[in-house]
Amino acid sequence: MAWNPPSHELQDVVQQLGTGTKAVSIKYKHEGPISRPVVMPTYQSTTYYVDSCEKYFEQNFDGFVYSRLKTPTTQELECTISALENAAGSVVFPSGMSAVTSVLMAFLKAGDHVVAQNPCYSGTYIVFKDYLPKYNIEVTFVPAGCEVDEYERAIKPNTKLVYGETPCNPLMTILDVVQFAELGKRHPGLITFVDGTFATPINQRPLDYGIDVSLHSCTKYLGGHCDLLAGCASVRTKELYTELKRFQVFFGTCVGASDASLLLRSLKSLHVRVRQHNENAAALARFFEGHPKIVRVHYPGLPSHPHHERAKKFMTGGYGGMLGVELATSEAARVFVESLKIMRLAVSLGGVETLVEHVGLMTHGSWVMTDAEREKGGIAPGLVRVSVGIEDVADLIRDAQAALDKVSA
Ligand SMILES: *Cc1c(COP(=O)(O)O)cnc(C)c1O
Repeated sequence: MAWNPPSHELQDVVQQLGTGTKAVSIKYKHEGPISRPVVMPTYQSTTYYVDSCEKYFEQNFDGFVYSRLKTPTTQELECTISALENAAGSVVFPSGMSAVTSVLMAFLKAGDHVVAQNPCYSGTYIVFKDYLPKYNIEVTFVPAGCEVDEYERAIKPNTKLVYGETPCNPLMTILDVVQFAELGKRHPGLITFVDGTFATPINQRPLDYGIDVSLHSCTKYLGGHCDLLAGCASVRTKELYTELKRFQVFFGTCVGASDASLLLRSLKSLHVRVRQHNENAAALARFFEGHPKIVRVHYPGLPSHPHHERAKKFMTGGYGGMLGVELATSEAARVFVESLKIMRLAVSLGGVETLVEHVGLMTHGSWVMTDAEREKGGIAPGLVRVSVGIEDVADLIRDAQAALDKVSA
């Protein structure tokens, strides 16, 4: 017996559906109550009646017995995310970091070797740098946005997993996901693992190219309103699903009932929100690029971005809502972010409101990396990360203009 991915009522036609229809219409095939609510309820109950002692095991896999395993709410969530990702199955976790560590722990063992990129999301970087070695898993770092050849050169006989984030925090470098998937195929047993949080499944679907695991921090765009914490990992095969689900069940890394419900609600407007994020970020990127106090803009949608051609190939839905804006000095960046009125200073990203952060003083500050490491990673002292929201973009541009006026030339 094994846990299989849940199925839904549109299973037979899901391939023909657009992402918007998938986000709104996937309904978990629920054998339960007579009344059928349009919205999946929040299943708060931790335990479920068992039909008979004999049926316990069967119900364990095909039905519901205990909420750490699954609930109708989490099943519908898994179905919806799988449909959006074109995945064989998806598992939802209590945070993005929980999704990252669960994937690593489910598929790696002591003695394995991993090739990861640097920089990447700071939490993920710390897990690679400080924790995996503690479990006797060796990690080799390659530069973010490098050619896939560099990953290949780092591969050893015990390499079990390769990790890439695309677009990558905070410079929006793009990984060639097609070549990354091919690298995986050239090395049987090697797991290709991509964090596509910044892109969302609306803009980019790594599994379409043969990537094994596609991860999102749902706290960001999938949740979209800065009011829930969750993460998800979608996988290419049923076998990978079963292994990951089993890990989740026994390590207890399952999403809470209310966050699962909130996330399900959020997914219904994902495609509409992402469209507006894409549009606003592109307009703001163009504004910043033309401003004399801005040294450089990192946005994959700009022809000046070093990986624009790659982004065009893989980000078929748009270039996302994240941009990096470089001012001349750390101090200039500080004055800029502290002078904004509509865009606000806060970490996290992907919500409907625009948030900015000073990369070198905040998320990638001295608590995570040294000046030398930042410099090596191409993170300039004056770098500001902008998570562009869905406000009226003219207001955002006026806000940015006014704050830049306060920055001394
Ligand atoms: C936020 C984030 C994570 C971690 O997600 P949490 O939900 O905060 O645990 C991982 N990867 C990327 C790219 C992120 O932006």
